Amino acid sequence: MIQIDKSLIDALRESESIVFFTGAGISSESGIPTFRGKDGIWNKIRPEELANFNAFIRNPEMVWEWYNHRKKIIHEAQPNAAHLTIAEMQNHFKNVTVVTQNIDNLHRRAGSKTIFELHGNIERNFCINCKKFFNEELNFSAGVPKCECGGLIRPDVVWFGEYLPEDQFLGGEKAAISSDIFFVVGTSAVVYPAAGLVYTAKQSNSIIIEINIEETALSSMADYSYFGKAGEILPTILEEYRSGLKS
Ligand code: NAD
Ligand code: ZN
Repeated sequence: MIQIDKSLIDALRESESIVFFTGAGISSESGIPTFRGKDGIWNKIRPEELANFNAFIRNPEMVWEWYNHRKKIIHEAQPNAAHLTIAEMQNHFKNVTVVTQNIDNLHRRAGSKTIFELHGNIERNFCINCKKFFNEELNFSAGVPKCECGGLIRPDVVWFGEYLPEDQFLGGEKAAISSDIFFVVGTSAVVYPAAGLVYTAKQSNSIIIEINIEETALSSMADYSYFGKAGEILPTILEEYRSGLKS
């Protein structure tokens, strides 16, 4: 089992505000493929072909086929020990904030309350013309679904070249600035501006803890790095924290 530094447990005991900045890796143990890494989706499909607005205009059927496939995987997936441990942390710390790049809604399904979704949510959709939201199941029997106004309906996810939802990014930034401890879990941290939040937290003197199965571009600036599965390391940290409280 992985050894958690005592100094980290001590720091956690003094902390009020903790942030979990998460990426696709936290959901891989739920069976949702990551984008990068050796089994990543982008080794099989080029992102430019699908996850951008022009691709959608050129071939909405193809883009929807891909998203419906992902929706099915996500719908059948369950939150894993990592998502559940983060939700459990709400019973131990005053402020627990999740800032996620994931679109899979698993943090919410695990019970986390304060969540900023930087890249949208695959369970929501909107009309590209009038921007009306469609949260219900869409009907594909007559082809790509359209709004009453005639506009095509698309998934509410952030595509390459698009801006992040401002309220979500500002919420994440605020949480990073006021955090005592900033966990970076299962992200390759190469997608900006999301990855910049780690530097924001660092500049605000937050303690940076990285959890990943392998080294990343952030490893050298993290105060603590634990390499292994998020679904094993996060429960171990919580366990150590709890047993520390008893002594
Ligand atoms: P990424 O695919 O670039 O990186 C995943 C990272 O997770 C890698 O560094 C990998 O080493 C690590 N990892 C894999 N399994 C792990 C495990 N069990 N425990 C800990 N770490 C593990 O993902 P990213 O950094 O989130 O990339 C950003 C983009 O990917 C975002 O735009 C996001 O919207 C999108 N994405 C989301 C989902 C999802 O919602 N579940 C899935 C794939 C991609
Ligand atoms: Zn419309």
